[in-house]
Amino acid sequence: MALLAQKFDDDNVLCTKVDWLLNWARLSSIWPMTFGLACCAIEMMSVGACKHDIDRFGAGAFRATPRQADLMIVAGTVSFKMAERIKRLYEQMPEPKYVIAMGACAVGGGPYYLYGYNVVKGVDRVVPVDVYVAGCPPRPEALLEGLFKLQDKIRRDRILRRAPRPKPVLAAEPVAGEPAGAHS
Ligand code: SF4
Repeated sequence: MALLAQKFDDDNVLCTKVDWLLNWARLSSIWPMTFGLACCAIEMMSVGACKHDIDRFGAGAFRATPRQADLMIVAGTVSFKMAERIKRLYEQMPEPKYVIAMGACAVGGGPYYLYGYNVVKGVDRVVPVDVYVAGCPPRPEALLEGLFKLQDKIRRDRILRRAPRPKPVLAAEPVAGEPAGAHS
């Protein structure tokens, strides 16, 4: 891929077509990792079941290993203890990879924001997040909407000249100036 990237430094028809083809293939066959942390995971499971059937949109092949997955759906409360595991799993996923933060807890700490001394206030402090899905818990339709947003993002991706993603920062400690469990 790096060799190809050097060959196609400027925009041209061939490059755009290759981008389009690769993006179309990727957005049509997203493989999420089987990964639930708390109550939001129940809604994520519902998305995989027959009523909502995420498979219709090419993202139903949930994998049991990060090495075969390109999407991490962080569904639930991220504790500091779990944050390190999330980071490790993320690093084990091959590029290109994406993250959806599902639910108020994963987006920003949710109901544990004020007094949850053990809860990371947003999984984007641990891994880069592509799409945020609000709700406590979000309905399955909201997660599907998040998937559509991610597919839109992939559709616009420049796969041959992709900028490197920022290095994830593990927030395994309360952030400076933010005493554990005391935001008031
Ligand atoms: S956002 Fe609400 S439903 Fe989801 S894990 Fe947190 S408390 Fe549970």
